[in-house]
Amino acid sequence: MGESTTARVWDLVIIGGGPAGLACAIYAGRARLSTLLEEGTLPGGQVVLNEVIENYPGFPEGISGFELGQRMSEQAARFGAETELARVESIDASARPFHLTTTAGVRRARALLIATGSAPRRLGIPGEKEYFTKGLSYCAVCDGPLYGGRRLLVVGGGNTAVEEALFLAGIASQVTLVHRRDQLRADRILQERLAANEKVKVLWDHVLVEVLGEEVLTGVRARNVKTGEETTLPVDGLFISIGNQPRSEFLPAEVARDESGLVVTDRHLETTVPGIFAAGDVRQGAYRQITFAVGDGTLAFRGIMRYLEENE
Ligand code: NAP
Repeated sequence: MGESTTARVWDLVIIGGGPAGLACAIYAGRARLSTLLEEGTLPGGQVVLNEVIENYPGFPEGISGFELGQRMSEQAARFGAETELARVESIDASARPFHLTTTAGVRRARALLIATGSAPRRLGIPGEKEYFTKGLSYCAVCDGPLYGGRRLLVVGGGNTAVEEALFLAGIASQVTLVHRRDQLRADRILQERLAANEKVKVLWDHVLVEVLGEEVLTGVRARNVKTGEETTLPVDGLFISIGNQPRSEFLPAEVARDESGLVVTDRHLETTVPGIFAAGDVRQGAYRQITFAVGDGTLAFRGIMRYLEENE
């Protein structure tokens, strides 16, 4: 996109190409708003990293995350949303139209939707940074296939950790799920599948304190939180699945966030800056589900329409 794109004023720029952003883009396209979707680095959003999605209505056999993300993107494009693989670096919230500095140049918009979702949470222990991509990963679907027949360790007790442990059990020789409590947070159906899988064992009441290795990761040091005892576990791969944190650090100070970085919105999903809306995982109060993100994108669209009509 060239000079004309820089000069152009879009009715709506959506930042983030996951389900919340794409749902809003579909509605905006049908309402004939000129819409630009800044997709960032992961078109389709984190959804595409799921091997199979079983709880999105309309797909009784399940659907791969990649296919669901792609179908949503195609649907948004069909109704006229334009897409750009650019990252938004900053927003001038005092300018009207809003000015965005992106890796593809300046973009201007009458209304904005922040739908940037979240990024994997880090453990923050020694060795974590060093061995990232050298045996340590935050995405089983992406990197799991590299570990055929190896010993793997997954950290976490939520739905993602259990789904990843089950997925990896189909590839690895052995999977250990390490959880900091004696009870999992994951849905019952996943807990039942885990219990029935002979390749996965659970190490309860343990936290990791260090990632060990030389050229590549060779093991971890874990501590029993009840006894304080530390053990070294030799493993070939480590998958960390301890939840997510919102991608909101690039937002200007005028867009209020809570202490976890989640964007604060009103019931129309408008942020503390009129004309800037937020939807999906990045906002306070969201329930991290694809169905919810889609509903959020739809609700934000309604607020955006109202804002544009009132500020014609
Ligand atoms: P989550 O539900 O927040 O679970 C995070 C897990 O990591 C928890 O078990 C937590 O332990 C543990 N944890 C957090 N910080 C830790 C630390 N510093 N050290 C060790 N363990 C730590 O995150 P998620 O599994 O990524 O899921 C996110 C959301 O997406 C959830 O709402 C989930 O239901 C949803 N999701 C749904 C599906 C599905 O419906 N099939 C699939 C994937 C995700 P505690 O339990 O002790 O807090």
